[in-house]
Amino acid sequence: MKETAMTRFLDAGAVAALVRDVGVDTALRQLADHIRQDFLRWHRFEKSARLASHSPVGVIELMPVTDGAQYAFKYVNGHPANAAVGLPTVMAFGALAEVSTGFPLLLADMTLATALRTAATSALAARAMARPGSRTMALIGNGAQAEFQALAFHALLGVREVRAYDIDAQATARLRRNLSGAAGLDVLAVKSVEEALSGAQIVTTATADKTRAVILADGQVGPGVHINAVGGDCPGKTELDPAILRRARVAVEYAPQSRIEGEVQQMPDDFPVSELWQVLSGEVPGRGSDDEVTVFDSVGFALEDYSALRWLHASACARHLGRFIELVATPEDGRDLYGWLMAPGNGDGRAVAGWQRVAA
Ligand code: NAD
Repeated sequence: MKETAMTRFLDAGAVAALVRDVGVDTALRQLADHIRQDFLRWHRFEKSARLASHSPVGVIELMPVTDGAQYAFKYVNGHPANAAVGLPTVMAFGALAEVSTGFPLLLADMTLATALRTAATSALAARAMARPGSRTMALIGNGAQAEFQALAFHALLGVREVRAYDIDAQATARLRRNLSGAAGLDVLAVKSVEEALSGAQIVTTATADKTRAVILADGQVGPGVHINAVGGDCPGKTELDPAILRRARVAVEYAPQSRIEGEVQQMPDDFPVSELWQVLSGEVPGRGSDDEVTVFDSVGFALEDYSALRWLHASACARHLGRFIELVATPEDGRDLYGWLMAPGNGDGRAVAGWQRVAA
């Protein structure tokens, strides 16, 4: 088989090994750089709102994007009740392919990469929108995303204090435990949203509930606060009182998708928003005054996953990490698929020996 026709495969363990080797802080910074570079090339990308398949308990989404040289897609779910069956709320995998041939270069777990890229994007947005010198962040919702959010805001903005609140006290305890060794970052467990907000210049909401929740009410948000709203990312799934949006400066990733999925789904179609690329490029200011409330209405956009896949691929290549797999059939004579099927020795029996029926 042609050496060039193998796809690099990074399973969840390989991605974890890579991130540990790079270091979470460095990974977050490098990812933020990749995401920034790609948002600054915004007009080079063919973009579309993701394709979502909703069920009463969750959503499964496909997220494609291309810059004409490489094509990426991610499969991701969102099932807020998954903890009850021992599965994460959010799981993902994705692929990066070359446009010139369509050949898939990389197939990778993206569960960890989703958490990293979401946090890196949040911190990038906050760097442009939060008041300079913001050092205290309220973190409401202390699930799988929480550590990454805290570490990204520490690494990219210099946040030193995280005031953590969750309706599940064990989630907050886990967050504190996991980050107890993070130098220069204090995680305080608090017992209410009000306590979390006290003294916080930045508020991150990362709760999971498939409903129009009001995690933050209008009266709770003081002047100058930057809100990083991460958990409202589906039709009918929001976290902010719409009155907050009415008086805030709001940035979204990709308006056609965010108007369906984000906090701004609660607002009229012509509600004014900026896109993150405009804020990062300086085309529009992230903040107008010290007193203004700013909101990054994050839902997660395919371009961030393209950046993450680009980063994963380059980092894995540099470290010779992952396995090469014959993901797609590539006969010597590309048009002789049947001959390839019947050729003795093809697959070396691996496909049969390695094939197992998965318990139904
Ligand atoms: P998770 O299920 O691991 O954690 C969610 C946490 O929120 C849980 O600990 C839960 O107890 C807590 N929670 C639920 N309702 C709450 C409330 N009213 N007040 C306080 N805490 C509450 O989920 P996760 O993987 O951490 O994801 C969090 C949210 O972020 C989800 O809604 C997910 O869909 C979303 N998400 C968004 C992006 C993005 O790009 N914007 C990316 C990944 C995940």
